[in-house]
Amino acid sequence: MPAAMQGEFQPAIYRFKLGGFEVATIMDSYVIRSGLTPSFGGDAHAAEVKALAAANRIDADRYFHPFTPMLVNTGKELVLFDTGNGSLSAEYEQMKGRLPPGQLVTRMAQIGYKPEDVDVVVITHGHPDHIGGLSKGGQPVFPNARYVFGATEFDFWNKGENVREARKFNRELYVKIVVPLANRAAMIKPGDTVVPGITAVDAFGHSPGLLAFMIESEGKRLLNWADTCNHYVIAVQRPDLHLDVDDDKDKAVATRKRILDMVATDKLFVAGFHMPLPGLGWVEKTGSGYRWVQHSYQMNL
Ligand SMILES: [Zn+2]
Repeated sequence: MPAAMQGEFQPAIYRFKLGGFEVATIMDSYVIRSGLTPSFGGDAHAAEVKALAAANRIDADRYFHPFTPMLVNTGKELVLFDTGNGSLSAEYEQMKGRLPPGQLVTRMAQIGYKPEDVDVVVITHGHPDHIGGLSKGGQPVFPNARYVFGATEFDFWNKGENVREARKFNRELYVKIVVPLANRAAMIKPGDTVVPGITAVDAFGHSPGLLAFMIESEGKRLLNWADTCNHYVIAVQRPDLHLDVDDDKDKAVATRKRILDMVATDKLFVAGFHMPLPGLGWVEKTGSGYRWVQHSYQMNL
């Protein structure tokens, strides 16, 4: 008997040391999205996006879109950045078939963490794939955690003014999921410290108040850029292209250029929520722009 085909399998969890901290990236889930174009650059740039995909040996019509929260154990506190999709697709009709069920809690258990162990939950921004795992059936998933929300982001969704049509349901989700947690949340702005060694960085644009986070221990630094770049080829090599899911498109372009320049110049290690597994790498300058350099084994030396 020939061995049975077992189907695709890929690692979803990665943990390494960053100075005195332990960092784990955990893929909550993923979707296969159709069409890098027109999502990136609109119809006007379709030919360029297709050429870029071909040059980088990826399929322009189907692309892998992972959701990758990050855990940082500082030795004093366990800090979770973003919560994945949680049970959004089970609890909200509009989310059915759009977002897969989140596996974050199951996968945390595989590497030794219970939801009760999380001391701080940091939300980089209010989009569904980042807030979905905060609560289940109206109950907080991380019962002992305090929360850290960006003040600008919170005000935007809480007030609900100038929310574009495509984000109306996102606003409903935010009010249901995030706003009830505000009494246990610190509202922060760029430059503020989350816990010693973790500082918020202005990444406004993809969402009105998106925050990135600089994580530093014993001279080792890592920038969690969250959704600054939503694709490792297109958004990094052509940061100037508008992306349909960016809320403030011009600001998102300016932010991508500023942060790409910073991480390339400073040779910063980067974690990105939608970067290829394990969501870690570097950015190098090229003749015309930038290029994502996928992490291999360096952090384990
Ligand atoms: Zn996202």
